[in-house]
Amino acid sequence: MEKNRRQFLRRIAGLGGVATMSAVPFVTNAASQVTVKDIRLSSHKDYVRLVFDLDKVVDHSVFTLNKPDRIVLDLKNTKMTHGMVDRIGANSMIRRIRSGVRNSNDLRVVFDLQQEVKPRSFVLGPSGKSGHRLVLDLHDRTAGSTVSKKAAPKKHQLRDVIIAIDAGHGGKDPGATGKKGTREKTVTLQMARRLEKKINQQKGMKAVLTRRDDRFLRLRARIEKARKYNADMMISLHADSFPDPRARGSSVYALSVDGATSETAKLLAEKENAADLLFGDVNLAVEDEMVKEVLFDLSLTGTIQSSLDIGDEVLRQIKHVNRVHKRQVQQAGFAVLKAPNIPSILLETAFISNPREEKNLKSAAHQKKVANAISKGVAKYFSRKAPPGTWLSASAAEYKVRSGDTLGSIAKKYKTSVENLRARNAMHTSSLNAGQVLKIPVS
Ligand SMILES: [Zn+2]
Repeated sequence: MEKNRRQFLRRIAGLGGVATMSAVPFVTNAASQVTVKDIRLSSHKDYVRLVFDLDKVVDHSVFTLNKPDRIVLDLKNTKMTHGMVDRIGANSMIRRIRSGVRNSNDLRVVFDLQQEVKPRSFVLGPSGKSGHRLVLDLHDRTAGSTVSKKAAPKKHQLRDVIIAIDAGHGGKDPGATGKKGTREKTVTLQMARRLEKKINQQKGMKAVLTRRDDRFLRLRARIEKARKYNADMMISLHADSFPDPRARGSSVYALSVDGATSETAKLLAEKENAADLLFGDVNLAVEDEMVKEVLFDLSLTGTIQSSLDIGDEVLRQIKHVNRVHKRQVQQAGFAVLKAPNIPSILLETAFISNPREEKNLKSAAHQKKVANAISKGVAKYFSRKAPPGTWLSASAAEYKVRSGDTLGSIAKKYKTSVENLRARNAMHTSSLNAGQVLKIPVS
């Protein structure tokens, strides 16, 4: 399969044939890998230019994919610091950039595009102060339209971060049931609605629900809904159960490719997945089987890292309102988390099988507390890592807090509101520390 895949990539990249393949030496020595030292982006009249600064000459290939529009850049035997692509700012062509390791030592960078573009790439040798470079130009395909030269996009172009909230189970699948008869499908829906409200109260974020009533949804349908809404993340809400009524606490899960973190995580995944035995694959909206396979693993590499990152932020907040069952984000093969391109987490809010937690799960006050904690965690993550083109990713400036500053005085100085300052920085109190750096929102 691996060989076929490479041939396939070569074919779509328009590079040589099988003969060339066998001539490529197989290098595993990390020291001889090409290192990406920096990535620079500049906007021009009809194109966006990305320059990869490298320490050696690189073997690369580029190909495009549609529905949704993407560009895939493969760099052979290359490494890059994790998170480097996150530094690239918003622009009217690129929606978001992801990177991942392929075949142990190759690097793959995927550009999710705002529109269809025509890529052109070339390498440059050292000259003057510059070293080896790989240049990738993304040309505007739509005639007449131009790319904004401004680094910060205008307010009206900035979109909200979309959070898909998935209330677990529903309809003929009630999920777990508590001693007092509380059903998982009911409390997850109540929680989902409360979380929706909290998220919609936060500037720059918008919530969408996979179900709004008591109905059965296949796991695959849940993922398809999140994709349809162009969700930037998905959170699936559940309530755990265990034969021993003493088991209690919240747990956060992210998808694992290599298997579950623990045996418990594995059993839980089997239990949650069982409701939909027909689920087996993910519709990638691409006809070619090979493309599907290539896309699936490339999209998972960056997505899982982001999922763990979001899960960690949520767990940090949950700790304040509920006992935590496992202190770290767990990984397991939950089908609902297998949404390529969409970082996803699954939250087992509490144990419905524990009498005290069953009571909490039904309580409006407790549900609000949990919803608030989740929304804070999500906001924290997106204040750091919102995708390009969103209000939460844009900054007019950065400000280093001095002693004596208040949110009000900073807001006034930059002609923005305290509410916007808080939202952009995911601040949930008014306390400031000298030296703290605040992102000034685009007003
Ligand atoms: Zn469940």
